[in-house]
Amino acid sequence: MISVEDALAEILAHVKALEPVEVPIIEALGQVVAADVVANTDIPPFDNSAMDGYAVRASDTLSVPVTLRVAGSVAAGYVHAETVAPGTAVRIMTGAPLPPGADAVVKYEDTSDFDRSKQDRLASPADVIEIRASVPPKKNVRPSGEDVHSGEVVLERGRLVRPAEVGVLASLGCATVTVHRRPRVAILATGDELVDVDEPLGPGKIRNSNEHSMVALVTRTGGVPLALGIARDTTDDLTAKLRAALDNGADLVLTSGGVSVGDYDVVKDVLDAEGRMRFWQVNMKPGKPLAFGLLAGDVPLVGLPGNPVSTMVSFEQFVRPAILRMLGRSDLAKPTVRAVLDEAVSNSGRRGFIRVMVERRDDRFHAHTTGEQGSGMLTSMSRANGLAVVPEGTKRIEAGTELTVQMLDWPEGTGL
Ligand code: AMP
Ligand code: MG
Repeated sequence: MISVEDALAEILAHVKALEPVEVPIIEALGQVVAADVVANTDIPPFDNSAMDGYAVRASDTLSVPVTLRVAGSVAAGYVHAETVAPGTAVRIMTGAPLPPGADAVVKYEDTSDFDRSKQDRLASPADVIEIRASVPPKKNVRPSGEDVHSGEVVLERGRLVRPAEVGVLASLGCATVTVHRRPRVAILATGDELVDVDEPLGPGKIRNSNEHSMVALVTRTGGVPLALGIARDTTDDLTAKLRAALDNGADLVLTSGGVSVGDYDVVKDVLDAEGRMRFWQVNMKPGKPLAFGLLAGDVPLVGLPGNPVSTMVSFEQFVRPAILRMLGRSDLAKPTVRAVLDEAVSNSGRRGFIRVMVERRDDRFHAHTTGEQGSGMLTSMSRANGLAVVPEGTKRIEAGTELTVQMLDWPEGTGL
């Protein structure tokens, strides 16, 4: 039996960031930039107005109020090419290029236009305007290159693409971006007892929930799930389905069940025959039976335990970090908080992952268990927003003890 840390290190030693691909920027959301993105233009590309108002020569506004002749009007998307002469001003809208000669903008609110309604202004634009506030040069002007200078590295390799990065790429005129490709993750449930969600339950049968929770977990983590259905508990069927996973171009193979010491637990045997077993059994609860190995061609296989809670908890500990690394991420850990346990809990002595609901109370995080902790009780997972981590060797934790909690969900705000 190996420690959680050693098991994770062993798995991560066999996965690396996948090769770069060019994808449309919106598809890159959640992926990692694989090559520096260099700006080939200034942003903004020209000096422009930050306000609706009047483009002026700042030196004309040294003593106010002052009346200037209105020499024209320029909206965003248009150009006023004539030079703004001394004693004149040009009406200007936010985003419009600053006309030559002007070096500042006086906002509407500081002019006599502010006394008039918009309809009035549009119907009979002022041909003279009273300026009521002095402006220094550059006031209300967004200079070209203020945000980005041409030639600058705007997104370094390794950066996660979030909505802001999608916007930055669009502003640079990049329709596509080079990111590490998403891993294809084959998902295989094992068990003679399993029937699909839409099939009737015969005697002794249960529904195959793991396939679906694994698909959801892989999707949420950013991988591409390849759901390959159910393998029966025979070496022949499992072997055939693992080969199918490789034929489907899987970068990672997940199985559930069949890794215990039962008579029909065949995952380890097949892994041995088809590749190399690296370890089996981790010092944790739930999730002790976990097989890891490499299939032909060094495709990693994580044999997750079959109990539905164990499947999910082990996924979070071992598979999520592996998928993130393949995506090119370097931050692999779940977010954690320190929370006070509101009740006493017993622990097996292995590393414990207790399903808890974390709440914020009196400026601290508090955790209480989501009830019975049986590893077949998936609703205990469904009610949880975190996994409280109990150190190895601990048999009991008293109420009031502070523990580290891995947050499964990290909602906005502080209320959890
Ligand atoms: P095993 O390790 O294969 O003996 O599975 C452990 C427990 O998890 C058994 O009670 C199985 O019936 C259950 N189990 C295995 N696979 C699944 C699955 N895909 N969906 C739901 N429960 C499962
Ligand atoms: Mg089984």
